[in-house]
Amino acid sequence: MSPDLANRPASQDYAPGTGKTWTTVTHSPEETLEVGRRLARQLTPPCVILLEGELGAGKTTLTKGIVEGLGAARQEDVTSPTFALVHEYGAGSVYHVDLYRVESIAELETLGLDDFLGGNAIVLVEWGEKLGRSFEVPALRIRLEYAGEDHRRVTVESPTRNP
Ligand code: ADP
Ligand code: MG
Repeated sequence: MSPDLANRPASQDYAPGTGKTWTTVTHSPEETLEVGRRLARQLTPPCVILLEGELGAGKTTLTKGIVEGLGAARQEDVTSPTFALVHEYGAGSVYHVDLYRVESIAELETLGLDDFLGGNAIVLVEWGEKLGRSFEVPALRIRLEYAGEDHRRVTVESPTRNP
């Protein structure tokens, strides 16, 4: 593990609802997976994780780590739901949504996000900024940005009020 990963603040700093913002830079996809696995330990259902950042920023990579950390699937079995829009893992305990191709509010409403949350799930949403709404359950907003070829800045915002 790189020194940067070893020096992370206590993982509860990025639990939903703490009001904190936390940033790190990862230097490989594997480090981003590891951030996801650690983050997963702080998540209890129901909650929603909004993932933001351009194509290739690492939203799916981070999601793989989170789903694996939750014990819902192995990271290599987590694939981008770009066409299906929603993938389900762990018998309905985790949903992975990708809004990249969603263009209308009507389409968003047919996704059933609230049904997933009502079913006590952890819901991960790529292109979460497209939702433009708040949730009654705890939420995290995670922004991924390019910071050099294999480097990505990961900013985890844990609002006390839901976004
Ligand atoms: P998104 O879902 O945001 O479009 P992906 O996770 O699908 O992004 O793709 C990220 C791409 O960037 C992958 O090809 C991955 O191998 C590469 N990559 C390089 N460095 C990193 C890093 N530090 N973290 C995450 N992905 C990285
Ligand atoms: Mg993706």
